[in-house]
Amino acid sequence: MNKIIYNFSAGPSMLPQEVLLQIKHEFLNWNDTGTSIIEISHRSLDFLQVIQELEQSLRNLLCIPNEYVILFCPGGARGQFDAIPMNLLRHFHSADYINSGYWSYNAMLEAKKYCSPNNINVLSNYQNKKFVLPMKKWNIKNNTAYLHYCPNETIDGISIYEEPNFPDKIVVGDFSSFILSRKINIKKYDLIYASAQKNLGPSGLTLVILKNTLLNMNNKLIPSILNYKKLFKYQSMFNTPVTFSWYVSGLVLKWIKKNGGIQFFEKLNYQKSQLLYNTIDRSGFYINHIHNNNRSQMNVTFNLKNPKLNNIFLKKSMENGLKFLKGHKVVGGFRASIYNAMPLSGVQALVQFMIQFEKKYG
Ligand SMILES: *Cc1c(COP(=O)(O)O)cnc(C)c1O
Repeated sequence: MNKIIYNFSAGPSMLPQEVLLQIKHEFLNWNDTGTSIIEISHRSLDFLQVIQELEQSLRNLLCIPNEYVILFCPGGARGQFDAIPMNLLRHFHSADYINSGYWSYNAMLEAKKYCSPNNINVLSNYQNKKFVLPMKKWNIKNNTAYLHYCPNETIDGISIYEEPNFPDKIVVGDFSSFILSRKINIKKYDLIYASAQKNLGPSGLTLVILKNTLLNMNNKLIPSILNYKKLFKYQSMFNTPVTFSWYVSGLVLKWIKKNGGIQFFEKLNYQKSQLLYNTIDRSGFYINHIHNNNRSQMNVTFNLKNPKLNNIFLKKSMENGLKFLKGHKVVGGFRASIYNAMPLSGVQALVQFMIQFEKKYG
């Protein structure tokens, strides 16, 4: 059982080995408390330090300006699909949603419930699942509450790398599988949210980075647990938080910093994804039709030209220690999720396997 395993799961996804070893090492006696991290109060002084360091690491790594607050929310990114229209619609009856894949489409479906009557502006459908229209062609309306889009569609493997420039609009982004993978200019956004289990830590924690002017928008009918103003007032501890996820996410952020910060991972992520896309493009055996401008560097999707080989590809990849390459059931095919924690050696092992598999079955 000493064979190296590479985990390509889309989420929950692999965590850095170094972080897992640290958790193991201090699991029974965290911070010399004589107790485990999962046994102590979220209000204890020891845990308070975890929160402060988590927030400070995020501010430093992502260069989050002072006029933005950070909330750690329950309910996953899906919870934000509701929290966003609830908190941000105000007197408006509609919002602009860019449909670029599975997650942005589902965010739109959720928001539709709050718009009257079923009034939502869906923009820039992705064209044959191959590319997304450039932002200047997004026909944003004046009388809508905000603009929502998803820069990385985790299931479809489609990314939007352009940064928004809509100064008159509240811009909201689902960064679940994009956050910390490359440099972003926070000031271009009003609200960024991300569930943790892709590129940050274990599931259960949802990061919300919010311009402080949006904290004034209130509506008594919003469930307190989704109300940004309330969550801010209670310092993200209106209910008992997922303390373990907060703690592990803090360790992951320290690991990112130690390795050279976002700059380092941006380069590495580019290198890893290019290696894979080059392997796919070189042959007629593997297929990915997504336009170069929209190819995801986090979730590389591909199909076999001959789908009859799908089962054997999956079986052989597993046998070779390359785990969870099966694509999401709504799109089929294969998907290699290669977040920050995936080392270059993992992608190299996958590429080697793909080349050999093609030699044998191509
Ligand atoms: C995983 C994911 C979600 C859903 O996250 P949950 O934590 O399961 O709610 C939403 N959007 C994107 C882009 C995702 O990758």
